[in-house]
Amino acid sequence: MSNKITSIRGMNDVLPEQTPLWQWLEKRARAVLAAYGYQEIRLPIVERTELFARGIGEVTDIVEKEMYTFADRNDDSLTLRPEGTAGCVRAAEQHGLLYNQTQRLWYTGPMFRYERPQAGRSRQFHQIGVETFGIATPDIDAEVILLTARLWKELGLSDQVTLELNTLGDNDDRARYREALVAFLREHRDRLDEDSQNRLERNPLRVLDSKDPGTREVLETAPRLADHLGDQARAHFDGLRALLDAAGVPYVINPNLVRGLDYYGRTVFEWTTTALGAQGTVCAGGRYDGLVQQLGGKPTPAVGFGMGLERLVLLLEQTRPELPAPVAIYITAMGDVQTQALVLAEKLRDALPGVGIQCHCGGGGFKSQMKKADRSGARFALILGEDEVAAKQVAVKPLRDQSEQQQLSEDEVAQWLAARLAPKSE
Ligand code: ATP
Ligand code: MG
Repeated sequence: MSNKITSIRGMNDVLPEQTPLWQWLEKRARAVLAAYGYQEIRLPIVERTELFARGIGEVTDIVEKEMYTFADRNDDSLTLRPEGTAGCVRAAEQHGLLYNQTQRLWYTGPMFRYERPQAGRSRQFHQIGVETFGIATPDIDAEVILLTARLWKELGLSDQVTLELNTLGDNDDRARYREALVAFLREHRDRLDEDSQNRLERNPLRVLDSKDPGTREVLETAPRLADHLGDQARAHFDGLRALLDAAGVPYVINPNLVRGLDYYGRTVFEWTTTALGAQGTVCAGGRYDGLVQQLGGKPTPAVGFGMGLERLVLLLEQTRPELPAPVAIYITAMGDVQTQALVLAEKLRDALPGVGIQCHCGGGGFKSQMKKADRSGARFALILGEDEVAAKQVAVKPLRDQSEQQQLSEDEVAQWLAARLAPKSE
């Protein structure tokens, strides 16, 4: 048939040859999150559209152009989540998690944005996100950044990424700065790119983010947010910097780092890489003390980040960490021994928990079974034929080195394998 159904543009399958790397990444991330005592929260993929419009901001790219919004059968406007923070705040508030207590939460899963698909940018992508609530001091800003730094170390990516840091100040600071910036940009309006001209009136801070060379030139002499900071925001930022210095985490201050979501204030940060072309931000976050209240809760300080797993996978495909082979032992079954092979496989799974054991199914000759054993990536092929079964023996053929094939009794084979498959730290 020629009219096969294909996937939606920008929504990618992760194929079996790619999943080991994803799992390796996810496992390490979980371990780091556990090491900081963060707890997982699982959230719906669909929320009311209003949550994102109010949470992320009406005049952001995400809400204006990127959301997958639809009416359900009841005519309620629903949206596939474009990010996790708004839903996490909604859930925490709904279930009383923010009442007189602090929270350190994380989640993972798919996010959806209608963007132009390209390397590192898809329409369904995946994030691990962290959100902390109830702590106003810069130690928690430092902690979430340290957590990410530790993750890069665990992933072997520390050399690939740079921490960029900025402060957006408090609401009043930003309001004063906004006036100064708008006044300045209006004077140079004709030198701005079209996008920036539009943003000038609607979301002027985002102009700072422009990649257009002409606009960037104008911005060189623009008023600086750093000169409009109030004492409190400045003290907070200095506090964070001192903590990062003490912890030995290098960073660069990027005064143009503003982030695309409206809820941020004070700290914003991005981990960027030069190894992925234009899509260089692998993790982005900051402080959003106003969001809980904006969504109907009590004022609650909060800091969080989201990291894009596709971009991390792209980086890891370049650094190629050594991954554990999913199959360690491949049991072949030659002749009429299928029952014995399956029983042997079960016995070995009892004796060797955590070891990947694949038992050949479906018959076939010696050559083709050995080929499959080799392709499985297994370290050992167990050869079970009618002669072996009669003698209560198994032949063990090492597949990854030149050592000799062994003839072992059924009773000793598990122990022999256990001694050679001592769990490698993966
Ligand atoms: P960008 O500037 O790359 O568009 P963003 O500011 O829209 O990023 P956030 O909303 O802060 O990004 O999301 C956090 C992270 O999620 C990004 O740093 C990136 O790693 C990842 N991400 C965002 N959008 C996409 C996408 N369309 N495809 C893949 N990953 C994405
Ligand atoms: Mg974006």
